[in-house]
Amino acid sequence: MKRTFLIATLAIIAASCSQPRTTAPDVIPMPQSYSLQNGSFTADNSTTVTISAPQEAKARLQEYISGTLPFAIDDSRKSNCIALVTRDSIDGISSPEGYRITTGSKGITIEATGEAGLFYGLQTTMQLIDNEGAMPHGTILDEPRFEYRGMMLDVSRHFFDKDFVLKQIDAMARYKMNRLHLHLTDAAGWRIEIKKYPRLTQLGAWRDDPNWKVWWNSGRKYVEEGSENAFGGYYTQDDIREIVAYAAERHITIIPEIEMPAHSEEALTAYPELSCTHEPYKQADFCVGNEKTFEFLEGVLSEIIELFPSEYIHIGGDEAAKQSWPDCPLCQKRMKDEGLKDVDELQSYLIHRIERFVNSKGRQIIGWDEILDGGLAPNATVMSWRGTEGGITAANSRHKAVMSPGTFCYLDQYQDAPHTQPEAIGGYLPLKKVYSYDPVPQELDSEKAKYIYGVQGNLWAEYIPTPEHMERMMYPRILAVAEVGWTQPENKEYDNFRNRALTAVGYLKSKGYTPFDLANETGNRPEADTPVEHLARGKKVTYAPQAPYYEGYAANGDSTLVDGNRGAWNNNDGVWQGFIKGGVDVTIDLGEVTPLTTVNADFMQICNPWIFMPTEVIISVSDDNETFTELTRIEHELVMDDALTFKNFGWQGETSARYVRYVARIGKKGGWLFTDEIVIK
Ligand SMILES: [Zn+2]
Repeated sequence: MKRTFLIATLAIIAASCSQPRTTAPDVIPMPQSYSLQNGSFTADNSTTVTISAPQEAKARLQEYISGTLPFAIDDSRKSNCIALVTRDSIDGISSPEGYRITTGSKGITIEATGEAGLFYGLQTTMQLIDNEGAMPHGTILDEPRFEYRGMMLDVSRHFFDKDFVLKQIDAMARYKMNRLHLHLTDAAGWRIEIKKYPRLTQLGAWRDDPNWKVWWNSGRKYVEEGSENAFGGYYTQDDIREIVAYAAERHITIIPEIEMPAHSEEALTAYPELSCTHEPYKQADFCVGNEKTFEFLEGVLSEIIELFPSEYIHIGGDEAAKQSWPDCPLCQKRMKDEGLKDVDELQSYLIHRIERFVNSKGRQIIGWDEILDGGLAPNATVMSWRGTEGGITAANSRHKAVMSPGTFCYLDQYQDAPHTQPEAIGGYLPLKKVYSYDPVPQELDSEKAKYIYGVQGNLWAEYIPTPEHMERMMYPRILAVAEVGWTQPENKEYDNFRNRALTAVGYLKSKGYTPFDLANETGNRPEADTPVEHLARGKKVTYAPQAPYYEGYAANGDSTLVDGNRGAWNNNDGVWQGFIKGGVDVTIDLGEVTPLTTVNADFMQICNPWIFMPTEVIISVSDDNETFTELTRIEHELVMDDALTFKNFGWQGETSARYVRYVARIGKKGGWLFTDEIVIK
C-alpha cells in the first residue's frame, strides 16, 4: 500500500516538471528513436565539454572541438557541461557510429561505444542547439542504417580547389555522411599530382577554356601549365594529405577514383604511348595489350595508395568504348594469349589484374557497375549507377554494392522546373524524389540485402562551372541522401524532412554556403501530381504501323496515353511517350458509342534536344473504325526558342462516337514529338 503510494507520488512529480514533447527534433538525419520533454538545457559561454574516452580518441575530439565549437574543454566539471563518455556497450546500439544522448537540467551526456558515435552525438547536439536554441530534455538513441553514406564530387570536368573540398567536408560531417569520393581523373582534366608521371598535371590538368561545355564543343585541347590560356588545376600531394587528415578528424574517408580503362583522354594525351595508336588526342581507352599500361597504372596507384588510407580505391571502369582494341596487335595478342573471347573480357582482364595489385597492397577495389561485364573481380565492390541491376547482381553473388542509381542519386539533374534553373545536364530530380529512394532493392531477400553497403549521391560537374553553382546543386539534395543512408525507412516522412531541410538551408546560408532556395521551389509540373479521370482511361489504343512510339521512350507502352498519368517537366520521366518516326497516329476504342465534348493532348517543346510541337493535329471520330469524320484540323507554326513550353492541342464541341483518332504530325524540321495522355471527356 505504502509502496504504491510512493510510486504514484513520484509519477505525479515527474509529470509536473517534464511534459512529454510531441514535436520531432529539428535534426538531419532523423534519429532512430527519441523521448523528449518540454524542458531544455541552454548552453552558454560558460558551458564546457568533458571527455572520458581512450587517449587517442580523446585527443582527436579535443582537437576537433577546440577548433570548431564554442565550448572550452574542462574534465573537472559536473554541471553546465556536455559530457562525452565511451562505454563498453549501450542497450539498443550495435554500431560504433551509434550514440545515446541524455539531457537534463545539469547538462548533456553523450555516450557511445566508439569515437565515431561520440562525434555523431555531438553533431546531433550542435544541430539542436543551433536549430532550436537549446537542447531538449530527454533521450535520443540513434545509429545508422548503412555503413556507407557517400557523396561524389566530380573535380575533373571543372576543378574545385582544396578549400572548397574542406568546406564541403564540414557540411558532410554535420549531416553524418562518412565517404567522400573524388572523381580525380577524366578527359576534362587530371587533378592530382603524381611524382612519377609529371606530364599528367603539366599538360593533362590544363585546358584552353574554363567552361567544360565550350571546351568539349571546340576541339578539347590541353595546354601547358602556366600558359596564358591555361584553365584548370590540380591538388598537390600536400593538398591531398591536408584534405585526408581534415576529413579523418571528421570521420570521413576520402575515396580516390582513377579512371581506367576509359575516360582517359587527358592521360593518353600526356602519355600517348599508352594508347593503342600512340597518337595524342585520338583515344579515350588505355591499350590493355601493352605492359607499359600496367606499369603506368601501378605506378599511379602506388602513389594514390600511399596518400589515401581508404579501404577502397575506385578504379572507374565505366563507359569504355573499346574501339581501338579490335585493331590493335598488342590487344589482340593479349586476348589470344589469355584466351579472352571478346573485348568485354579484355576489360575484365585489366580490372582483375589491377585488383590483384590493389589487393597486394592491402586495399580493395570499387568500380562502376560495368566492372561486372566480362566477369567480376573476386573481391570487388560494385557502385551501381545504371539503375539498380548492377547492385542486385553484385549482392546476389555476395559482393558488396553501393547504390547510386541515376534516377535517384545523380544530383547533376535539374532540382526544380528546368525553365527556372541554370542549365543542367537534363532530367528532373527534386528533393522529394531523392528522399523517396530506398537503397535496398525489393528483389533481394534479407540475406542478400546485407550486401547493400550503402548509398551515394553523385555530383557530375559538366554543367557546373563555379563553386556557388556546385553548392546550389548539392544542397539541400545531399541532405536527403544523408537521411536515406542513416534513417530507417519507417522513421522517414517527407513533409517533416522538408521542414528540417528548410532549417538546414538557412543554417548553410548563414555559414557562407549557396544552397538552392528550397522555400521558393516551383515544384513539379502541376498536371503530373494527380492522375486525370476521363472516358478513355484504360481503353484500347491502336498505334498506326507507320507511327510507332520509340522503344527508348515507351513509357507505359500501349497504355501510356490512356493511363491517367501526366508527365513531369522532363521527357524522360517514364510518363511522356516519344515519337520520332511518323509522328502520333493512334485510335482509341471507347467500347461503345459515347457522347463526347472534348478530346485533347499536351505536347512539350524543348529545342536543344530536338523536341518540337507538332505542326499539324487532326482529330476525327468513327462509329465503325472505317469511316472517320474530322472534328478539327489544327495548323501550328513552330517557334524556335530556348524555353521549355507545353501546349494543348484539342477539340471542344458535342458529338458521339465509339472510335477517336488522334493524329499529330512532325514538321519539316524533323525531331521528336512527346505527349503524355489523350484526354477524352
Ligand atoms: Zn591496344
